[in-house]
Amino acid sequence: MNRPPLSWIRSEILSMKGYSVLESPDGTIKLDAMENPFGLPEDVRSKLAREVSALSFNRYPDPHARELKEAVSKVIAIPPGRLFLGNGSDEVLLNVFLATSGTIVVPEPTFSMYRIIAGSIGRTFRGTDLLPDFSLDLDGVDRMLRDEPPGVLVLASPNNPTGLSLSMESIGAAHRIATKWGFTTLVDEAYFPFHGETVLQSLPEAETLLVLRTFSKMGLAGLRLGVLIASQTVIEMLDKIRLPYNMDALTQKAAAFLLRESLPLLNAQVQEIVDLREKMTREMAAISGVTPFPSRSNFILFRVEGPSPATVFRTLLAKGILVRDVSGHHPLLSGTLRVTVGTGGENRTFLAALKEGMKS
Ligand code: PMP
Repeated sequence: MNRPPLSWIRSEILSMKGYSVLESPDGTIKLDAMENPFGLPEDVRSKLAREVSALSFNRYPDPHARELKEAVSKVIAIPPGRLFLGNGSDEVLLNVFLATSGTIVVPEPTFSMYRIIAGSIGRTFRGTDLLPDFSLDLDGVDRMLRDEPPGVLVLASPNNPTGLSLSMESIGAAHRIATKWGFTTLVDEAYFPFHGETVLQSLPEAETLLVLRTFSKMGLAGLRLGVLIASQTVIEMLDKIRLPYNMDALTQKAAAFLLRESLPLLNAQVQEIVDLREKMTREMAAISGVTPFPSRSNFILFRVEGPSPATVFRTLLAKGILVRDVSGHHPLLSGTLRVTVGTGGENRTFLAALKEGMKS
């Protein structure tokens, strides 16, 4: 039988738009991906090289990533039995979505991978709009959950690409609504290091609360280490479907070493990024036609008036600066772009180019 080409691929996948990562030629000032711009100093790098050179690459890694889990447990002060590690928090999300049933409900605009991962495994996904000030529309969430088979409500705080956090009261209220309709709440705290507030203090150990963290934003994006904090029972369920050896030997050894040895350094870099963010927000607000949103993360969403976001994006790129034009992602984001906080020098270059670009 002759089948049309690609008819063996699921139709949702054929029509799906994948996650796009922008090309960045060498020398580009990369302010598009919420990375820590500082990197590690030479002495830490050489110690790290010695650590990983002793690994047995012919052997499978520890399937339970015990050493790394122990290190993560110390950093976030949660027992290892309540942690699930993934190859980035993206992989953790995939495992949560694979293990759960019902509809995945997400207030939007938000991180596009929730929709992409849900779609890739055939899960029903519903977006519900945030209010124009990017806070939660609790009535909207209530109406949506009432009408859907109970699944997972995902809340990102601080949110991407808005950079804003949700208030603890509104997260608590959303969690109560979710519980009322039989939904589990997953709070994605990817940007926690730059915000400092966590639901772990206000909603400790609830069975229906999952908290997602990542070490990407504070400086380990290249190692791919995401963490879910949940009850021990939930972790046991997720462990059943986790692919064996999902954490490779390099990540296990390098991340455990860096969390043990270099946490003060990473925390100092985070604090510097927070200071630079505040300075950058003030300086952006002083540019005519630019309105930055007050960020609780390591990036800033800003609205431009005059030139279009596409024009601003192109002008910046022509000067070797890569940001993200998010204006087409959702109606509430019209006129906006997102810029990651870089080093002091990178930010100055960006600000000068933006000022220039706003005149065009
Ligand atoms: N959650 C949010 C809100 C994000 O913005 C991102 C990265 N852009 C992630 C999760 C995924 O991060 P990682 O896979 O690097 O842990």
